[in-house]
Amino acid sequence: MVAIDGPSGAGKSTVARQLAARLGFAFLDTGAMYRAITWHFLQNGCAPAECAGEADGGQARMRAALAAARLRLEQGRQILNERDVTAHLRTREVESQVSAVSALSFVRAAMRDLQRQVASAGPVVAEGRDMGTVVFPRARWKVFLDAAPSERARRRSADFVRQGRQVSEEDVLAEIEVRDRLDSTRSDAPLRQADDALYLDSTGLTTDAVVLRLFEFVRADAAAAGAVAGGRA
Ligand code: C5P
Repeated sequence: MVAIDGPSGAGKSTVARQLAARLGFAFLDTGAMYRAITWHFLQNGCAPAECAGEADGGQARMRAALAAARLRLEQGRQILNERDVTAHLRTREVESQVSAVSALSFVRAAMRDLQRQVASAGPVVAEGRDMGTVVFPRARWKVFLDAAPSERARRRSADFVRQGRQVSEEDVLAEIEVRDRLDSTRSDAPLRQADDALYLDSTGLTTDAVVLRLFEFVRADAAAAGAVAGGRA
C-alpha cells in the first residue's frame, strides 16, 4: 500500500495513477468517490447547500440518498447505480459542495469501508486527504504531496482549460483555498500529514520527476525488505 495525501491541486491523481502503473499496483482515487456521492446528492436535490434551511440540515434525506447509492470502481471509472458518472465529477457544482459532503461522518464511514474493501484485493496506490492518517494508518509507504498555492491554482486552471472552461487563476486559487481550509479544519479525518509520511514539495517539478522520486522511494525500501520485485522501468 502506498498512501498519498495532500491539498487540492498538488498533482496527487496524476502522480498516483502513473506510480501505480509503474509499480503494477491498482490505483484508488478517493477524491473521485467523494465527488461521485456529491453528484448523487445534487441529483437528488439534497446537497448541503440545497438543504441548509431544513431542520436537520438535510441529514435524513442525505442518509437515505447515500443508502440508495451503489458505488463501484471499474478500471478507473466511477459507476454509480450502474451508470458511469466519471465525466460529471469535475464540474464546479460538484466542486463547490464536495468539501461539505466529505465533512459528514456518515459519508466518510461509508467511503472508508469501500476504500478498505478495494484495497483488500491487492497492492494499491491510494490518494486522498486521510489515506495515511485514518483509512490506511498501517500503509507501508506514506507520502504527503504538496505544492505552492500559486502552482496548484495554475495546474487546476490548466485542467479546466483542457475541459474547455475558462476560469481565471485568481478564482481557482480562491476556490482551492476555501476547499483546503474546509478539508483541514473539519473534525472527522482532517487533511494533515501523517507523522511517518515522506513530505514532497512538487513546486517546479515535472510529473515524471515526482513519479520517479516516489518510485525510487518505494523501490529502495521494498528491495531492502524484498516486498516488491522491482516494478516496471
Ligand atoms: O482530490 P479531489 O480534489 O478530487 O478531492 C475532492 C474533495 O474530496 C476534497 O476537497 C475533499 O473534500 C474530499 N476528500 C476527502 N477525503 C479524501 C479524498 C477527498 O475528504 N480521502
